Amino acid sequence: MIRQCSLLAGYSCLVFSLLFPASAAWYQDKQGIMGTNIQVEVWSDDVQQGQQATQAVMAEMERINQLMSPYIANSELAIVNQHAAEHPVKVSKELFDLVALSIEISKETQGAFDITFASVGYLYDYRQQHKPADEQIKSLLAAINFRHLVLDEQQYSIFFSHPKVKIDLGGIAKGQAVDNAIAILQNLHIKHALVTAGGDTRLLGDRRGKPWMVGIRDPRHPDKQAVVLPLIDTALSTSGDYERYFEQDGQRYHHILSPKSGTSSYEVQSVSIIGPRSVLNDALSTAVFVLGVQQGMDLLNRTLGYDGIIMDNQRRMHYSTGLAKP
Ligand code: ADP
Ligand code: MG
Repeated sequence: MIRQCSLLAGYSCLVFSLLFPASAAWYQDKQGIMGTNIQVEVWSDDVQQGQQATQAVMAEMERINQLMSPYIANSELAIVNQHAAEHPVKVSKELFDLVALSIEISKETQGAFDITFASVGYLYDYRQQHKPADEQIKSLLAAINFRHLVLDEQQYSIFFSHPKVKIDLGGIAKGQAVDNAIAILQNLHIKHALVTAGGDTRLLGDRRGKPWMVGIRDPRHPDKQAVVLPLIDTALSTSGDYERYFEQDGQRYHHILSPKSGTSSYEVQSVSIIGPRSVLNDALSTAVFVLGVQQGMDLLNRTLGYDGIIMDNQRRMHYSTGLAKP
């Protein structure tokens, strides 16, 4: 950008500079954290602010990962899983609150969303193409039940009232991380931003005069988009059976499990939820995936502020009433 003004052109040059400061630009970063792709894009008129903003988002993703990853041996979540069946384990308010919210969502979704799915879920290894034997699933099925989680609000402690319980926040933590990241950006006075963690995206403002265009992938052609939505100042989460899966004997084993059976849910291929909070979109997309078309749509149609698009296992699209044509 030309910054030197001649005397004559001085006034218009000043206006131009004020309207378009030298460093006004989109600042972007992409990294692999929490076992998924993290993407951030912010508009800033200051290099330092722009870079600080993208770095702060990545740092928050890594912080949540260290706290809640089941794969990091000394994460708070891992310590809860190791000891909470023996005695109540004190945790941070942050982890406590997310577990408490997960239990609330379990109650609202007839147990379709249940972080104790992990009591069986940890026995699947999608990369190694490993699934537990039927007898193993059967023997652990009783451990899947959010009612086994005993929370003490005075102590901020978590206790498992069944010896075989394990929890996993993979269906909600990324949404929480995205919400935290957006709050951090707002504190930095950013007005236009996109933050994505895997299937969870939240947008701040618009894309400077245009809506953000956010795609929903075609579950059977992940390089193609099934739908592209113009969105402003809202959030969208997608759960699909293509994120982590393997095929064996013609069957697809994927990472969204029905708490009733301890096996993958098959009624739908993809669920997208649009609503203001990523943490709820994230959990609801998983819950609706498990509930299937009818129960899932019933849930969305009675949940104020949240809408959804389902692609069923025949590749038919279903829209909640807030999105359907009038
Ligand atoms: P992702 O963005 O990782 O695809 P989803 O929102 O689709 O996440 O959620 C899938 C993740 O949720 C799984 O990898 C697992 O960690 C967790 N999960 C699977 N089944 C359930 C369930 N019934 N209730 C709660 N969480 C679940
Ligand atoms: Mg989810």
